[in-house]
Amino acid sequence: MGIEADVAHAGAAAAAPKKAWDTRVMFRELMMHDVELREYVLNHVFGEELFKLAPQYGMTVRQERDLTMARWARMRELKVYDNVLAVGVDDPSGRRAAVQKYDCLSECVGLLDHSLEIKTGVHYGLFGSTIARLGSKHQRELYLPKVQTCEMLGCFALTELGHGSNARGIETTATYAPETDSIVLHTPTETAQKYWIGGAAEDACWTTAMAQLYVNGECHGVHAFIVRLRNDTDKQLCPGVWIEDCGHKCGLNGVDNGRIWFDNVHIPRSQMLSGVASIDDSGKYQSAIKNPDQRFAVQLGALSGGRISIAVNSTRNAALALTTAIRYAHSRRAFGPDGAAEVALMHYRSHQQRLLPYLARTYAMSFAVNELKRMWWDNCQLLGTPVSKDVHFVSSLFKALMTWNMRDSMQECRESCGGQGYASINRIGPVKNDRDVMMTFEGDNSVLLQRAGKMVMDDYARTVKSRKRSGCFKWLSEEFDTKVNSPARRTGSEDLSQDEQDLERLLETALHRRLYALLESLAQEVPKLQRELAGDAFEVANMISSDASELGYAFAELLIWQWFRRDVARISNAYPDMARVLQMLSSLYALDTVDRSPSFLRLSCISQAEASVVRHAKRRRCAELAPHSMDLVNSFGIPDHLLGPIAGDWELQNRRSKL
Ligand SMILES: Cc1cc2nc3c(=O)[nH]c(=O)nc-3n(C[C@H](O)[C@H](O)[C@H](O)COP(=O)(O)OP(=O)(O)OC[C@H]3O[C@@H](n4cnc5c(N)ncnc54)[C@H](O)[C@@H]3O)c2cc1C
Repeated sequence: MGIEADVAHAGAAAAAPKKAWDTRVMFRELMMHDVELREYVLNHVFGEELFKLAPQYGMTVRQERDLTMARWARMRELKVYDNVLAVGVDDPSGRRAAVQKYDCLSECVGLLDHSLEIKTGVHYGLFGSTIARLGSKHQRELYLPKVQTCEMLGCFALTELGHGSNARGIETTATYAPETDSIVLHTPTETAQKYWIGGAAEDACWTTAMAQLYVNGECHGVHAFIVRLRNDTDKQLCPGVWIEDCGHKCGLNGVDNGRIWFDNVHIPRSQMLSGVASIDDSGKYQSAIKNPDQRFAVQLGALSGGRISIAVNSTRNAALALTTAIRYAHSRRAFGPDGAAEVALMHYRSHQQRLLPYLARTYAMSFAVNELKRMWWDNCQLLGTPVSKDVHFVSSLFKALMTWNMRDSMQECRESCGGQGYASINRIGPVKNDRDVMMTFEGDNSVLLQRAGKMVMDDYARTVKSRKRSGCFKWLSEEFDTKVNSPARRTGSEDLSQDEQDLERLLETALHRRLYALLESLAQEVPKLQRELAGDAFEVANMISSDASELGYAFAELLIWQWFRRDVARISNAYPDMARVLQMLSSLYALDTVDRSPSFLRLSCISQAEASVVRHAKRRRCAELAPHSMDLVNSFGIPDHLLGPIAGDWELQNRRSKL
């Protein structure tokens, strides 16, 4: 079921060409790991009645929350989540396997039910991994087995009413009280109430609360504390803990988000997560990390895992919408030549040009994010290793670009299915709504992009100074180093041959040139602003914030292409029959990138004439890919039972006899 399935409808079968390659091989390459587990969960577990999609529409908040918990309980009963926290596993390969397994499960539930993905993600991915990353050996051994079995059901409390993106500014205090050898958690102001905490409103009995640590009157910044919120038996709130429900949301109503106030709640000193910082027996603060900026970054390390999960699940859900819209486009007929039969939507050039660039982008992102996952697993396999700067940087960029790609492709898919795209059962609108929050949580996209853009600027400054590619520039092609100081301008006199290799060269040059042009322009702008603003670093950063975002975006688009092309070359070597279609996807990704952004012309990275070449080549590429598009979406391996009727034989599904 699923990946081998073709659309049964006659129109679709007629429009889809014979397979030019094995979709199962493509599926394995796209998924990269745990393929058998993936197929077991998607087809076998999600085949059970409890996981059927139909009752999901029009449910009350109560029903959604109960369904989410029931599904999670059933998956635990089937032992699907066993050992995702690598309890008692010390060897790196075992730890790596556990993280891979967890990632696989997150992707599976992410295709079915966003609430289930987040509910489990908050517990294992945020609560559990904060303990794993920040706890001492003793704390890991004490708590993680109970987190694994859900004996300790937890949530992660960072955000406050007054501080979200600016997590460093949170106001909740954790004050060491030497007389009782305890730590007192307190909400000193209304804006310090914890807000949006997933799982807090009803189910979580524990939280990892982030708060400003005070020892002997000195503030040591944000640290993590294990705090009991409720009793396990009757779910009564603990003394000093006050919780309110965040109420109905635009989506994701299977998750019970809550607001938390702490009124001088005492916890034992041993409940401060003490892997990177602690209060010793004499009541003194100790940390091996002396730099407060680094210490803060380490404290928020668990968020990187969340960002990676969001990036991956965004590509999977863009794939879900594209599977529906492209299958429908092959089977839905509208208009045609006078007197002749109507033609399939996919025949229309405009329809191809609406959907296929998103297909190419989603393919490129699916492969690129696999590289990020590998970096993450390398990082996770060694206990006590802080999240690397590379993982933090790439996960910030990919989270932003991949969620925006999901949002835009889902909207295009929704519209390209006409009225059917608006029916909940076809799973584009409701999924889009539910997932809208992905742009905001685990780091607001705009803020992430700005910060990543500033990191690109810093790495560039180091690269120019040392004449050696440093930081993120290590991932870019050496060949373009020479352009660091002199990005050439395009005037229109270039050779405009449409030869494939020339086209590839044009695109490669354009993407690099845009990056270096943005960097050069910032390199000139910043000193000017520093003079004008008398060295006010905050205002200088403010003035260039949009440019920093654009730079981050440009870097990410190039990196995604670089990593995708590397996979294209590798797979083409191993499976020559897949080479052509992958090269077309890669080319369409770059053509669309250049065609859709005005920055290439604005910064003279391409000439007017080249812009026309790009536009025409993009259209040609779409037409070439259209006959392969069914196989390409089937390669995503989304089982039919997770797709709406319009992805299959929608005429049959809508027969009156079916009522
Ligand atoms: C459904 C849901 C579930 C959540 N679950 C959890 C959870 O389990 N635990 C938890 O701790 N948190 C959780 N959050 C909180 C989430 O992480 C925050 O909402 C997010 O970090 C953004 O913070 P904010 O809402 O305060 O927005 P703000 O930080 O106030 O941002 C508002 C707007 O201002 C912009 N902005 C902010 N700073 C700048 C700047 N420097 N320059 C330019 N623009 C800026 C942003 O781009 C954004 O558009 C959840 C949120 C939601 C909606």
